[in-house]
Amino acid sequence: MERFETARDAALSLRPDRPVYGFRPSVLKADAREFMAGFRGTTAYAVKTNDAPVILSALSEIGVSAFDVASPAEFEAARTANPQSDLYYMHPVKAQSDIRLALETYGIRRLAVDHEDEIAKILRIVRALDLDPADITLFVRLATKGHAAYELSKKFGAAPKHAVELVERIDRIGFRVGLTFHVGSQIEDLTTYERALATAAWVRSRVDAEIAALDIGGGFPARYGHDPKRRAPPPMPAIGDLLGNIHSEIEEWGLDDLPLIAEPGRVIVARSLSVITRVLLKKGQRVYINDGIWSSLSDAWTGKITLPARLIPDPARRAKRSTSEKLVPFKVCGATCDSVDILSRPFWLPENVDTGDWIEIGHIGAYSLSLRTRFNGFYPDTFVEIATPYEDEESGVEGFATMEPRGGMLSAGE
Ligand SMILES: *Cc1c(COP(=O)(O)O)cnc(C)c1O
Repeated sequence: MERFETARDAALSLRPDRPVYGFRPSVLKADAREFMAGFRGTTAYAVKTNDAPVILSALSEIGVSAFDVASPAEFEAARTANPQSDLYYMHPVKAQSDIRLALETYGIRRLAVDHEDEIAKILRIVRALDLDPADITLFVRLATKGHAAYELSKKFGAAPKHAVELVERIDRIGFRVGLTFHVGSQIEDLTTYERALATAAWVRSRVDAEIAALDIGGGFPARYGHDPKRRAPPPMPAIGDLLGNIHSEIEEWGLDDLPLIAEPGRVIVARSLSVITRVLLKKGQRVYINDGIWSSLSDAWTGKITLPARLIPDPARRAKRSTSEKLVPFKVCGATCDSVDILSRPFWLPENVDTGDWIEIGHIGAYSLSLRTRFNGFYPDTFVEIATPYEDEESGVEGFATMEPRGGMLSAGE
């Protein structure tokens, strides 16, 4: 991977016409270390957030040796990065053939369930492979309610009373039992974890079975930009403080004797990647760029986060004009030939942004690469390494991309 001091250096040296990802391994490692320093348990990185080999290898290099995985491709990606890694197969609804592969080929011994039929499915394969259930921990996924930018509790999770039945059933069979929840992604309300922990404590108090571990899932908020035209949202505590609060709650609910696991994704990778896009055409208050919702920006499109964006003017085209100090909103149209591919909120950019300029969009490490499509034949896949953190690059005027939830298909919060 070619290495540059800054994104500007990369843009001006490569003059890319296709999107280029700016990977910042030092930022990734710092953010992962910060999480691990604050969490008193096993950090199992959620592979779906970003499964790029460079990301998984960089995490392995600094000692991340557990991964939350959901599919055979993710088992393989994690083991390629770290052959000794511990895999947590936390998808509550699994294909029978995938369970077999997990148990037999990958030696996975930790799985999540939220229904009795899933337990039966796993048990059949355990018996067929002649494994001892006592070597396997089944985590009962608890349903939770709360405020996250992305609600995930509607699809998975057992209600508390049902969870009690599941725990007892798992224990009777002879498996070890854990409890787990996943509160959604980019949680906005810290009491969400408290309520989930209260549920876990309630379930534990109702069962005779011994609980072997508690997995608190992911959802920890990453730092994004904020739209200066709007009232600042209440600041999220630093991740160390947030984890400190969660540990206090774990103690208060009497769960601190349990081995803990967390499955952070976004909070670890968001800042480690940017994308350098090019303005293909400026048409009035619109800019047409060479990326979009079908490539790197689908997470942004849902309208829940504000991404930082900076203009890198093309000196070859406008040597005499400097970047304007005035930020104005531009509608951003993506690369594909459909009218869905328009970002839901404008990018605020210097008013003299022009065709041929580059726009670096920061903090796209989470749910960007993994959600790329080949729609219309566009598939960005070029990476460069950048030494300077996005925030530390001197760039004059800072723009930002902000997205407002809009109605219609696939809009957030449905
Ligand atoms: C997606 C997912 C995660 C990671 O969520 P983040 O919000 O990115 O931290 C963790 N655990 C489970 C079960 C998930 O589905």
